[in-house]
Formats: sequence, structure tokens, C-alpha cells
Amino acid sequence: MAVSTETMQVFEPATEQVLAELTRASREDADAAIARAKEAFPAWRAVKPGDRAKLLRSLAREIEGSLEELATLETRNVGKPISDARGEVGMVVDVFDYYAGAPERLLGDTIPVAGGIDMTFREPLGVVGLITPWNFPLSIASWKVAPALAAGNTIVLKPAELTPLTAIELEKLALEAGIPEGVLNVVNGPGSVVGERIVEHPDVAKVAFTGSTAVGRRVGELASRSIKRVTLELGGKSANIVFADADLEQAAGAAPLAVFGNAGQDCCARSRILVERSSLEAFLEALERSVTALRVGDPLDEETQMGPLISADQREKVASFVEDGAPVAFRGSAPDGPGYWFPPTVLSPVSNDDRVAREEIFGPVAAVIPFEDEAEAVRIANDTIYGLSGSIWTRDGAKALRVARGLETGTISINSNNSVRVTTPFGGFKQSGMGRELGPHALDYYTELKNVFMAT
Ligand code: NAP
Repeated sequence: MAVSTETMQVFEPATEQVLAELTRASREDADAAIARAKEAFPAWRAVKPGDRAKLLRSLAREIEGSLEELATLETRNVGKPISDARGEVGMVVDVFDYYAGAPERLLGDTIPVAGGIDMTFREPLGVVGLITPWNFPLSIASWKVAPALAAGNTIVLKPAELTPLTAIELEKLALEAGIPEGVLNVVNGPGSVVGERIVEHPDVAKVAFTGSTAVGRRVGELASRSIKRVTLELGGKSANIVFADADLEQAAGAAPLAVFGNAGQDCCARSRILVERSSLEAFLEALERSVTALRVGDPLDEETQMGPLISADQREKVASFVEDGAPVAFRGSAPDGPGYWFPPTVLSPVSNDDRVAREEIFGPVAAVIPFEDEAEAVRIANDTIYGLSGSIWTRDGAKALRVARGLETGTISINSNNSVRVTTPFGGFKQSGMGRELGPHALDYYTELKNVFMAT
């Protein structure tokens, strides 16, 4: 069905070997996928809500039945530990089950007005374009695909060229689940060609983008030309704030995976660790113990906690931050090549003005920044263009809530690292994006609100 005859290779970052060879889609392929989605829209929006719900549940069962294969594919293509990949695919199953509840619960309001009855309806948008990154390929696709389908939209999904394999499997599983052809269309091609075409195309009603702030800005500019609906889930530089009254062992035990999980290639990475100065020494000692104990190696090994980076380019970029000159306090281990390995690295002390504290590194590098008191912690945490997530560690509940309310951040955890749950909203303040994914709020971004008045 592809128009393009160009091919491309997909690599395995732990071995540097070719994992798959695929067709690289062209602008014409994007047009063809959008046309298929447009044609499929009237019938899909007309599917009875209960039947749409059943199809989403059936897709959840297909994914559940392929969990091990999908997790292994994601592990080999991204380099993430197999135990993480399994957890992510498990969450994808939950996402489809959760949004299967939505078609029958897209409620409107009745509003008291003079002379009649006023009602609101949530209408699907039409064809939606979904553009996803390489760090959590299937998870992030599911956060968009499930609510978009539940609301009655049809989809063109463009995965990142580095990691398109699980999105391609998702399209196949959707067909096996009984979702009609043309409703979910995956187009694997370069962002500058296929991505831009999706964003510009007049038949695409909305774009949901997850990726870097730089590309998100470009997507926002292009989308604005046709007043397209757009949601942007972008970069982060989140703070992990450790107060002296926290359980330091617990905070230091959790900090490594809060920043080195997915080898630091996580938009929610708490890559700035803010520590109250009076407990700095004790915290660093505990942190060193947990960082050096991290198991870095073969992502297919059940015991592995951190795998390689996605590519040689990414490793070079990460290394350039460490070469900037902030003192290296300690490092964990990393295997020798082949594979794009980089050891978990802690820099301390760092000033919040240093490049390592200002830019998203997207690798296993943490910057420890001391602070004097609560007000300074909030000021430093907010002194960034980003506002995606963050953590607060303290035994003082009132202080935790005060600080949480003071942070310009979309998702905050207290005495926890967790940023993402199926049932709760996720998204950024400031240049970390606009709009929310997951939870009930995501549905607002895949529907248009219609108001109908009937004179009585
Ligand atoms: P990226 O380079 O911005 O790419 C993201 C997606 O956009 C890819 O599919 C890419 O395609 C495509 N793209 C590139 N240029 C485009 C253009 N001009 N028009 C339309 N699409 C275009 O980001 P990434 O390197 O894949 O992912 C890492 C970034 O994502 C980090 O900044 C991270 O913080 C962010 N992220 C944010 C969240 C969140 O929820 N806030 C979650 C995960 C990741 P190709 O790569 O195939 O060319």
C-alpha cells in the first residue's frame, strides 16, 4: 500500500546491530493515510458507543495477549530494561481498558436558559494526527490513540523513526481486535517530511505531539496557520526537592531511578536534585550507595535497571554536558561497547545557572543543587523554562503541600517518584507544553464542545 519505495534501518542500541528494515514513508504516504482516515471517519463516529467500547476492550485483550512480544520488541529497539518494558505494556493495556469506559460516558450539560432547553454535546474532531517520540514509543502512542478512538476520531499516527516497531504492531492488533480499516493508520517516516505534512494538512483537525520543546514550537507554528487544535507534551528539567527533615535513605534510594530510569531519557527525569544544605553530606553519601548499586547492562536481563542510550549521537550530546566542567561527585558503572553506554553520573555542587541545570540533558546525568530554606527551594525549582513534573521529600505534610502549590509544575509527587497514572492528568506548565493526557481530562482535547438550544 506504501507509495514510497525508500527503505530505512532500525537499530538495537545495546548491540548497535540492525533490528529491522522498513519502508520509509513519504509525503504522499502521509496524504494517503490521511485520506484513509478521512474516509473511515463517518462510519467510525457512527459506531454505537457501547460497540466502540467493546472494540477498545478487545484491543486491550489483544495487547495483553502479545504483552511479552511487545515488551521484548520495545526493549530491543529502545534499550530499556525488560522489566520496565513489561510494566509499560501492562499500562498500555490499562489505558485501553480505561478509555473503553469513555464512549458511554461522554456526557454533556443541560443549562437553564429562558425560552427553551440548552444542551451541550462532546463531538469528535475528525482526523487527528498523533506524533510520538522514541523514549516511550508504545506508552505515549496509547495515551493518544485510546482517548482519540474512544471519542470517535480516526487517526494518523507517526512514531519516531528510531523506534517505530511497536506502533506498527499496534496497528495490526487494532485490526485483529475488529477496529475497521482506516481508523488507525501508522505512517513511519521522517518528522521533517511526514510529521510536517500531518501538521499542515487541511484534513487533519488536531495534532497531538509529544517530543522536544524545539520541535513542539515548530509544530505549534505550523498548526496555527490552519487554526488546528494542538496539544503539546514537551521537555522538562524537573526538580527533586529533598528537605533535611525527609527520610534521607528513602529519598536517596528513590532518586537514582527518578533520573536514571530509561537511562535518563525521560521527560519527567528529576535531573535537578535540590538538597537542603544542612543534610547535603548525609544525602550524597546515601545517594552514592544507591547509584553505585544500580545494575546497568543488557536490557534483556531481568535484573537490569538501566540500559544504553538510544544512539551514538545521544551519547555524544550527554557527554558534552559532563565535559562542561561541573564537578563529578561519583558515577555508577556501564559496560564497554558495543552499545551506546553511559554511566549514571552525579554532578555536585551545581549552580542553577549552569548549562547542566538549565537544559534538558536526556541522559543519565543528575545535578545536585544545594538550597538554604523552603523559599529558596521553590525559587530555584521554578527558575527554569520548563514545568513538567517533580518530587518533594519531607516528613512535614503542611510544608509539602505549601511547596507543591508554589511549584509551576504540572505533576508533583510527595515522597514518591511517580508522575504518570492512567486515571490522573499529566502535562506541563510553561514550555513543557499545553494540554493534558491521561485521566478524564484527556477526552476534552479529542472532542469539540457543541451547544444546542431548542425553543420550547
Ligand atoms: P523530537 O525530536 O522532538 O521528535 C518527536 C517526534 O516529532 C518524532 O516522531 C519526530 O520524528 C517528530 N518530528 C521531528 N521534527 C518534526 C517536524 N518538523 N514536524 C513534525 N514532527 C517532527 O523528540 P524526541 O527526540 O523523539 O524525544 C525526546 C523529547 O521528547 C524530549 O525533549 C522529551 O522531554 C520529550 N518528551 C516529552 C514527553 C511529555 O509527555 N512531556 C514525553 C516523552 C518525551 P523523527 O524523529 O522520526 O524525525
